Amino acid sequence: MPSTKINQRMRALALARDCASLGARVRTIHHITGMRPRELLNLLFSSRTPPPRGRAPDTREWYHNANLLYRIEASIVTANFLRMRRMGFQAPEALIAAYRYYQSVCQPPSRISFDRAFDLAAHTEGLWIAKSPSFHLVSCLRCGSEFLDAIGSASTAVRPCPFCQLLERHGRDPRLATSVVDAPPLFEDLVVHLSPVLTATGDADGDTPFTSLPFPPVKH
Ligand SMILES: [Zn+2]
Repeated sequence: MPSTKINQRMRALALARDCASLGARVRTIHHITGMRPRELLNLLFSSRTPPPRGRAPDTREWYHNANLLYRIEASIVTANFLRMRRMGFQAPEALIAAYRYYQSVCQPPSRISFDRAFDLAAHTEGLWIAKSPSFHLVSCLRCGSEFLDAIGSASTAVRPCPFCQLLERHGRDPRLATSVVDAPPLFEDLVVHLSPVLTATGDADGDTPFTSLPFPPVKH
C-alpha cells in the first residue's frame, strides 16, 4: 500500500476511535471517516460495548422546539466548530475538538450528544449529510453573543437571542434565581461565562460575547 494510503487509513482509524469514545453512532462515524459501517461495527464495538441504537438526531426539526439551554449549548458547540474551521482544521478534527471543548465547559450529562453536534455542524456548513446549510451563526444585536439560528429567521433587533432570553429569565423568574443558588452545575458555569455579557449590559461597546471563551491550545 502506498504511504499516503496508509496515512489516510491511520487517520480514518484514529478519527473513528475518537468519535466512538465520544459516543458516536456507526452512521455518524461512517460519514466522518468514510469507513464502511460493517467494518466500523467489527472494529469498534462488541457485545460488551454495543453501538448506540435508536434514531439519529435531526436538528432541523429539533432546534425550533428545543429549550433554551439546549439551544445555548448547541450554539457553543457550533461556534467552536466554525472557529476551528476558520483556523484551517479539517471538518472531522474541528468537530472532535469542538465537542471535547464543549464537554470541558459544560458539566455532564451533556445536553448535546456527539451525533447532535455532527448534525448541527453538517447543517451549518452544508457538508457530510447536508447539501446546503440550514443554520448559520448570528451575532446578537443586543448582547453581542454568537448563537445558532435558522437561516432566514427574524433579526435579534425584534426578538431576543437565547443568551438574552437566559439573562432576562435569570433576572425575572424566581425559580431560575433559586436554581442558581442551589446550583445545577451547568447553569453556574453558564452564568460564570456569561458574566462578561452581564457586565456589558447597557454598554454598546460590550465586546465580550459568550462564545469568545479562551480556546485551549491545540495539540498536534
Ligand atoms: Zn443576545
